[in-house]
Amino acid sequence: MSRSLSCQCGTMRWSIAQDAPGSHVMCYCADCQSHARHLGRTDMLDQGGSDIFQTIPSAFRIDAGQEHLAMQRLGPRGMYRWYAGCCNTPIANTLNKNTLPFVGAVLPPGAQGFGKITAIANTEAAPVKIRQRGLFGAVWSLLTRALMAKLRGQTASPFFNAEGGPVIEGRVLTKEERKAARP
Ligand SMILES: [Zn+2]
Ligand SMILES: [Zn+2]
Repeated sequence: MSRSLSCQCGTMRWSIAQDAPGSHVMCYCADCQSHARHLGRTDMLDQGGSDIFQTIPSAFRIDAGQEHLAMQRLGPRGMYRWYAGCCNTPIANTLNKNTLPFVGAVLPPGAQGFGKITAIANTEAAPVKIRQRGLFGAVWSLLTRALMAKLRGQTASPFFNAEGGPVIEGRVLTKEERKAARP
């Protein structure tokens, strides 16, 4: 089973180590939906849900098309939302600092090889009625995984430079753009 992914046009390719620890979650929050909507990629949403594999950044590798890496934030304090600029395919979300090594890889709906979905989160923003579950477990594993990675010195990330800043400058959506993208 492959954990290689690529953007819609095939220019960018990235992969997640086969043995990387992680949780497979569905996030229905308005921000994840706004991100996909602003990129014009609602095809990446499954009934409003984003399919996410939460793992550690050192397990994440960009294999091709690095020069197309782009990033946007929904607001000045928003998460870094990385995507393939060539065709607006979401790649991953990170915090805006690498102090807690965390990456949420955005998977195309129905992606195989990432295990069962163990948590369904933020369903209050879902366009259909879906029951929330597994949230506590997902948050707990995210934190323990990130802390273990930090203790082991596994803090390398394809999204941050050695100084802890983002590898490229992202763009913050204007208030109008954010409003227009709101589900
Ligand atoms: Zn979300
Ligand atoms: Zn592309």
